[in-house]
Parts: sequence; C-alpha cells; structure tokens
Amino acid sequence: MTATYDQWLDAFSTAYDAVPGPPGSACPNCGHHCLQLVFTGDLDGAIGYAHLWCNHCLQGIGISRTAIPDQAIVQDIRLPRDQRRPEIPNYHLVQ
Ligand SMILES: [Zn+2]
Repeated sequence: MTATYDQWLDAFSTAYDAVPGPPGSACPNCGHHCLQLVFTGDLDGAIGYAHLWCNHCLQGIGISRTAIPDQAIVQDIRLPRDQRRPEIPNYHLVQ
C-alpha cells in the first residue's frame, strides 16, 4: 500500500516545522526514517520550491511557491540543475 498525497503533506508539515533539524517523522510510505527536505530557490529569497522525499523508497512530493524557513537546506536556483547541491535523487512524485 502506498501513502497518499495527504499523508505526504502531513509529513511535509512535520518536516517543515523541524527545520533546521532533520525531518521528525518516518516516511509515510515505507516507515523508514529516511526523509529529506530540500528547497530550491534564490539563496536570498524567501519563496521557493520544496522537495520532500524518502531516500529509502524514493517516493515523495513537491510543493511549489512555499516560504523557505530560516536555516533550511536550499539549492541555488540560479545554477544549472546538474550543479545544484545537495543533489536530489530522481524520486517518484506522489500526486
Ligand atoms: Zn520511504
């Protein structure tokens, strides 16, 4: 059974509130504590795109135009996609 988008949104909310700490909850899909939350945005900007995924099962969601919390992990959107760090794996986007 795979997690629903709503379950991923709950995990996103928990992970978002946990910044700058690691996401607090287990993966809603596989139950491993392998979630990672990374934003893509202008390093000086407050708005960006959020990526939340699980490094174990490679499922996750993307959230567009969200506020980037202080001390979050942010990829620089001005760099070419393949030069952005940290790297984001090609995970399956739950819709
Ligand atoms: Zn997982």
